[in-house]
Amino acid sequence: MSLEKYESVIGLEVHAQLMTQSKMFCRCPNQFGSSPNTNVCPVCTGQPGSLPVINKKAIELGVRAAVALSCEIHPESVFARKNYFYPDLPKGYQISQYERPYSTQGHIVVRLKSGDEKRIGITRIHFEEDAGKSNHESYGTLVNLNRAGVPLIEIVSEPDMRNAHEAGQYLRALHSILRYADICDGNMEEGNFRCDANISVRLRGTEKFGTKVELKNINSFKFVEKAIEYEIQRQVFAIESGEKIIQQTRSWNSGKNVTEVMREKEQAHDYRYFPEPDLPKLMISSKWFEQIKKEMPELPKEACERFKKAFELSDYDASVLTSSKELAKYFEAVVAHCKNGKASANWVMNELLGRLNAAGREIGDTPVSETQLAALIKKIDSGEISGKIAKTVFEEMFATSKDASSIIKDKGLVQISDPAALESVVRKIIEGNPSQFAEYKAGKVKLLGFFVGQAMKETKGQANPALLNELVKKLLDS
Ligand code: ADP
Ligand code: ZN
Ligand code: MG
Repeated sequence: MSLEKYESVIGLEVHAQLMTQSKMFCRCPNQFGSSPNTNVCPVCTGQPGSLPVINKKAIELGVRAAVALSCEIHPESVFARKNYFYPDLPKGYQISQYERPYSTQGHIVVRLKSGDEKRIGITRIHFEEDAGKSNHESYGTLVNLNRAGVPLIEIVSEPDMRNAHEAGQYLRALHSILRYADICDGNMEEGNFRCDANISVRLRGTEKFGTKVELKNINSFKFVEKAIEYEIQRQVFAIESGEKIIQQTRSWNSGKNVTEVMREKEQAHDYRYFPEPDLPKLMISSKWFEQIKKEMPELPKEACERFKKAFELSDYDASVLTSSKELAKYFEAVVAHCKNGKASANWVMNELLGRLNAAGREIGDTPVSETQLAALIKKIDSGEISGKIAKTVFEEMFATSKDASSIIKDKGLVQISDPAALESVVRKIIEGNPSQFAEYKAGKVKLLGFFVGQAMKETKGQANPALLNELVKKLLDS
């Protein structure tokens, strides 16, 4: 296999819907899931004579994104018409920005699984209105214009990524930032955060980029990574067998795990961009910009620093716990209830995230609530149950969403802290193991652990560990 001879080059274009009440250029609601073609008006359905008006809130959210992504803001930018025909585009053009976007030259620093950090450049961010949606049914295609005119920003990265993992991490970081700053709700299933991946390969050591292929609208982080991996291999195989890569748009078939041709890629000149005559230049005053900057919500890296200090967490733990806004909120709520930052971090990261990952679920649909997990941690801290039993309880909580106390009661899992009860167990173990007892007495003191282990087993792990240790030692030495 000759994959190693090649290096891949990846640049991502992300469309993020802005969390506004209304659409970009009219007052129709920006709302997912309404009955088809109810959130429409003459502007967003392209009726002759209707005129667009810029939604100020959309611009504010776009500026927030630029600040969060360390981009430059241009006080003056221009809306442009991107002309093409499609049934879900009644005007025959999309209002976008082309030669003069409102923001350029930013970056994101992403953390890789190697532990290294990598800076990925952002070329530009521009405003755009969304198109409607075509629903392909067996009997034909239906057009729903509720989405037509919904505000978007398009965030275009530099071709800085070199493998699928880097692309995945860039997307996750971008998603997290946009969610933290309440810019985009990030719902990928509803199409509110969509990614096109541009991929080319070149021989290692060469400078010139290869011809790129664009993968359209892949709707999960995992699929983006898989699709990129597949596409890299496909291109390398093609080149190695003497084919030329053609500039194309392809889509990811998640059933077959392959990319498939959609169309030959259109060039920018096919769109006949020209400045939008119905809109003034977009002006962002420095006063407004400063105001937006002042009111910025907390960003992931700020939350990470705060967590490190407030809960005495390591760099790694804090960055995992602040990797998404939901997770950070969940964790903070657990700590607020149980007042044990370190234990909360361990339980959330190791037990909860571990199980959620295994089940392919997100923190948003965790079966164990913040208060339930906090209650469990409190029971360990108060000595009601041991850490080991707590894991059994947690397993059951995760499966049934029941409270810790009812699980402990139903399964009789309360920790045994009664010295008399434990003493009789220890005596029984000593009597049952006379030869080990003799060896212990002859000086093999490390057999202490053996007796503790046996006694713990006898109590099904429910003995109070500190008390048990103490009792075993006392009885062996008496
Ligand atoms: P287009 O005009 O086809 O849209 P752009 O130059 O605007 O191309 O780039 C679109 C995206 O593709 C950007 O994210 C950019 O980083 C990326 N890109 C550009 N050239 C390449 C290449 N040869 N290989 C991989 N990605 C590329
Ligand atoms: Zn409208
Ligand atoms: Mg482009």
